[in-house]
Amino acid sequence: MVSLFPEPKYINETGGYTKSFNRLCLLNNLKKLDFERLKKITELRFWNYNDIAENISDTEKTGSLTITLIDSLENLETGTKTSGTALNPPDNTEELYKAQGYGLEINSEKIFLRFENYAGFIYGLTSLKQLLIEEKSVYKLPICTIKDYPSVPARAVAPTFSWYAGYGRIGFDSQLWGYDEWAEFLNICVDNKINQFNMVMYGYWPFELKHYEETTFRNIPLKIWNAENSKWLTIHYTHPNLEDPYLARFIELAHLLEVKLFAYVGLNSYNGGYTIKHPEARPKAPKTGEFLNDFDSLCLSHPGTVDYILAGMSEITRLGFDGFTLEESEEGFWYCECDACKETWYKGAASPGEAKHRANIWLLNKIYETVRKINPNTVIGIRAFRQPPLEKDPAFLKECVDSMPKDIMLFWAPALYVPETEFPKWCNAFGRDRIWARDTESNSITSTMGRLYRTFESNMIRYKDETNVQVIERDIEQHIGSVKMGVHGINGYIFEWFGLFMHLFAHGNYGWGSIMEQEDFFRRVCWHNFGKELGEKILYVMQNIITIHESQIPLYTTPFPFQKNKMTNADIPAIKAARANHPKILAMIEEIRTAVQNSKRLKSWLPHFDRLKNAERRNAVIYELVLASLRYEDEKDPKKKDPILDEILELNEQDFAIAKEMFFDINPVGETGVKSCMFPYHEMKRLIYNIRHPDTPDNDIICSGIEALGWLWL
Ligand SMILES: [Zn+2]
Repeated sequence: MVSLFPEPKYINETGGYTKSFNRLCLLNNLKKLDFERLKKITELRFWNYNDIAENISDTEKTGSLTITLIDSLENLETGTKTSGTALNPPDNTEELYKAQGYGLEINSEKIFLRFENYAGFIYGLTSLKQLLIEEKSVYKLPICTIKDYPSVPARAVAPTFSWYAGYGRIGFDSQLWGYDEWAEFLNICVDNKINQFNMVMYGYWPFELKHYEETTFRNIPLKIWNAENSKWLTIHYTHPNLEDPYLARFIELAHLLEVKLFAYVGLNSYNGGYTIKHPEARPKAPKTGEFLNDFDSLCLSHPGTVDYILAGMSEITRLGFDGFTLEESEEGFWYCECDACKETWYKGAASPGEAKHRANIWLLNKIYETVRKINPNTVIGIRAFRQPPLEKDPAFLKECVDSMPKDIMLFWAPALYVPETEFPKWCNAFGRDRIWARDTESNSITSTMGRLYRTFESNMIRYKDETNVQVIERDIEQHIGSVKMGVHGINGYIFEWFGLFMHLFAHGNYGWGSIMEQEDFFRRVCWHNFGKELGEKILYVMQNIITIHESQIPLYTTPFPFQKNKMTNADIPAIKAARANHPKILAMIEEIRTAVQNSKRLKSWLPHFDRLKNAERRNAVIYELVLASLRYEDEKDPKKKDPILDEILELNEQDFAIAKEMFFDINPVGETGVKSCMFPYHEMKRLIYNIRHPDTPDNDIICSGIEALGWLWL
C-alpha cells in the first residue's frame, strides 16, 4: 500500500514500480506558468535529497525519469477510488482543486504532473518526493495515479519567533533560530503541505523599530551556565534576526514555496519591550493588589502609547508579512482605572471587561486603517472574545460582528470546555469564511512545562481529571470538525518543535482533510517518516513517556494551570510503574538516536531525540521527587519530616542539573517587576525555605511562566 501523508483524496495503485532512476528531467508543456520558477522550486523541494536536487535538468539523460509539467487540470482522468478516509468539504471542492490541487500520473517510464497554479505544482511534486523509494543510491516510485487537493484553503502552524521575550523568558527552541534553521523547518512544513506560518512575536521585537530602539530584542542580560567552570556567566543576548537580519530573505523563500507569513502579536499586550521600559505607560490596576500582571499592556490614554502600537504594526507590514493575528489577552477582570480611561471607556460599560473590550475594538479599527494604508492586501485576524463566560450569548456575538470591518478574520473559534453547539454558533455569527483557526493549543501547553515532554493523553497520570484538556487527540478532533464545517482555515501550534513533531504531522494531515482513525494515523505516519521498525520504536517512546510536572507535588502551592492534578498516595502505583518502565524507554531513545545519527536522510532529526532523552532522564528524577514528597505529606513526626525536605531539595538539584546541560534560558526573568521562570526549580527552593522559616518568609514569588497568569481561571 502506498504511504503518503497528508492522506491524498484519490489514489489508484497497481502494485508495480517505475524503472530505477537517479536524476529527474522536467519537460516543459506549460501554457501560463513560468518554467524557470518551477525548476527553482523543484530544486528547493528536494532539500533533503541533495543527490537528486543536483541532477535536475530539462533534457533527458541516462538514468533520468521524465516529469512532464502541464499547467492545466482540464480533462484529467485520475483514480476514482478514494483512499478511504480523506474527507471532502461540503462545497467549494472545485475551487480548492483549481487553486491548490494536482494530478499525478506515475507510469513505469514517465510521469505527468498536472496543476493550474504554483501551489498545486508544489503539492504534486511534494507527493512525488514522499513516494520515493531508495535502493542502493537509485530510486523508484510506485506506479499510481493521484488526484488530490486540500479541504481547507489555509493550513497554518504557529511557531514562536520570540515568546514573552523579556517578560517571562529570553528564548528557547525556534526563538533562537537563524535563517538555516527556519528554512529547514519551512521545508518540513511544506512536506506536510502547510501553507501559512503565524509567527508569534511577544515581548521585545525581533526586528529593528526606528525611534523605539529600547523595545527591540538587543543586549538583554541573562545568566547562562558555564559547565567548564561550574558557574553562571552574565551575557548580553541579541535575537539572531537582529545580529544577522534574515527575515526578508526568509519571507521571500516562504513566498516562493506558496507559504504566507502572518505576525501573531498582541492587540495590546506584550508588544515589544515598551511596557518594560516605560512602566509609567502601563494601565492603572485597581488598588486591591490582587492583580499581578499590570505590566503586559499599555494605557491607551497615556500620551504616545497608541502611536507606538501603530508604529510597531506599521513596521511589521513594511517587513512583508502577509497579515496579522492580533491576540486579545484573556485577562478581562479589570481594566485601566486612570481618569482618562474611565472617562473614555467605562461610560455605559457594565464591567471592566466590557470597558476593555470597547477599547480593544477601537484599537483594532485603528490598526486596521493604519496597516491597510501601507498594504491594502494585508489580512487582519483577531484572536479575541476568549474570556469567561465561554458560552457566548448570540446577541454578544452579533455585537462583536457589527463592531468591526467585515474582512477581519477570526483566528480563534471555540471547541474545548464548551458544548458542541458553540462552534456552529460562531460559524453562523461570523461566517465560515472568516474562521481561520480553533482552540488547538496542545503543543503550546507543552511549551509551558520547562522542556518536559507531553503530547498524548497517555503521557499524563489521570488525564481525565486534568482541567486543561489540550493534547494532540483534542487538536485532531477540532481539525476534523473544522473540515466538516468547511471553514477557511486551521491553525496548529508548534511553539516547540524539538521532540514534538507529531503535532506538525497531525496539523498537516487533518488540515488537508483526512479523517483517519487517530491510532492508525500515529502508527502510519511514524512508519512513513522513519521506516517501520524505527517508527514503531519512536511511537512507543512518545506514547509511553509519563511526565509529572514538578509543581504537581502537594507542597508546591504556586499555581500552574496547565497540568495541575496534585499527586496523591493513590497515584503511587502509576508512578512506580513509570519508574519501572524508565530504563526501557531510555534504552529505546538511545537506539533511536544511534539509528538516526547513522542515517544520512534522518540525521537532521537527532535534536528531537536529544531533547526526549533529556526530558526522560529528568522524569526518572522527578518520580523520586514525587515519591519523597508524598512521604513528606504522610510523615507526622517533625524530626523525621524535616530531613525529607533535604531529600526533595537534592532531587530538585539533580533535576535542574540535567536541564542545565542542554537549555539556555533557565533562570527567572524579572524585568517587569514580577519574576517568572518556566523551570520550577527556583520556586521549589523558595517554597521549601518558607516551610522552614515561617517567621521570615521570602514573599518574592516566582510565577510558573508569565503565560500562566492568564489561565489561572482554569
Ligand atoms: Zn488609562
